[in-house]
Amino acid sequence: MVYSYRRRKEEGEDKKMEIDLVKEKRLLEARISELESRMAPIQKELKEKRERLMHVKALLPKEQIESFSSPGNKLPRGFWAKMARELGLVVGCDSAHRVVIREAPETHKSIPHICKYDGKNYP
Ligand SMILES: [Zn+2]
Repeated sequence: MVYSYRRRKEEGEDKKMEIDLVKEKRLLEARISELESRMAPIQKELKEKRERLMHVKALLPKEQIESFSSPGNKLPRGFWAKMARELGLVVGCDSAHRVVIREAPETHKSIPHICKYDGKNYP
């Protein structure tokens, strides 16, 4: 008698907990979906602003761009990876330098360096 009462009580609590979890799951899903829809335009603007910033940087005089590079016209390690990231480019297994050449040729040309891919001395 005591046992079955306790058991029924526990089952009731399990059921209540399950209902609470289902409610919480629905609330979280709705909130996440709301946040995602609010983030979409911000992500779009972020991508546009990054592209614009890279374009503006590319138009700056040579002295300003040289602050990117270390002495001897050799770019710091990870330079192209950083640039690709700032441009929002997906590098994958390719070389970041090659991806920048392909996806952002104007920006690539604006970086003072001796290119190991096309052999040219920029700019
Ligand atoms: Zn290059």
